[in-house]
Amino acid sequence: MDNVRSRLRDAKRIVIKVGTSTLTYSTGKINLTTIDKLSRVISDLVNQGREIILVTSGAIGVGTSKLKMKEKPKRIRERQAVAAVGQCELMHIYSKFFSEYGHIVGQILLTSTVVNDKVGRRNVINTFNTLLAKEIIPIVNANDSVSVEEIKAGQINTFLENDTLAAIVSKLTGADLMIILSDVNGFYDSDPKENPNAKFISTIYEITPEIENCAGGAGTKRGTGGMITRLKAAKIATSAGVDMVVANGSDPHIIMDIVNGNEVGTIFVARK
Ligand code: GLU
Repeated sequence: MDNVRSRLRDAKRIVIKVGTSTLTYSTGKINLTTIDKLSRVISDLVNQGREIILVTSGAIGVGTSKLKMKEKPKRIRERQAVAAVGQCELMHIYSKFFSEYGHIVGQILLTSTVVNDKVGRRNVINTFNTLLAKEIIPIVNANDSVSVEEIKAGQINTFLENDTLAAIVSKLTGADLMIILSDVNGFYDSDPKENPNAKFISTIYEITPEIENCAGGAGTKRGTGGMITRLKAAKIATSAGVDMVVANGSDPHIIMDIVNGNEVGTIFVARK
């Protein structure tokens, strides 16, 4: 086991980001098995003495399903309304599963206005630290019903989508490790969905222009991220001294492999 991987065993504060394509089926309905497993693994990590922050997407996806709509609405105000319903439902589900495993969750909804403001930033860091000190698991999403930038960004991948949000949260809270659970195994030199010969890259020490060239376009219909947003997040995280791992979240148990230092996913090594 190399040094970079083995140090993940000691990661105390970990930010885990999970996207809509991991949390829902292609039918748009919620994947209860995955959320159950995710809640169990995270609860267990807290039992080990680690501090976990969960950054979750899914407000709009879950809201769309809850309201029995065929697809995500196009109008911004409709999306905001759907997110208001979905966020509530999402937290209800998390709260239920986490309490099965003896843990309490707290919701933090962020906007760029909050994280860009000195006082807002300090206040929210205090909230994170207080929740973590009480062994409560903070569950974070963008405040889609209040701020439209995040939803717009979700469509065009330019601003505060949740990969970036997770990286900002990792930086703010001084995390040791950030994990992005995705629907791909990690970082390839080209899109594995299009190129069967795409080569997997297990460790990335520096995000060079060459690496950036490897990142293709956006992700699936249900999610919003793609490798470009992953790289953007990796830049924020690694330059803040946070190791970042991208791995396949179809079985959330992979989180245990990551924190055991096993060679799964792609690690973007922190710049110390
Ligand atoms: N905040 C959005 C939601 O919960 C998702 C944004 C993203 O996945 O990047 O639906």
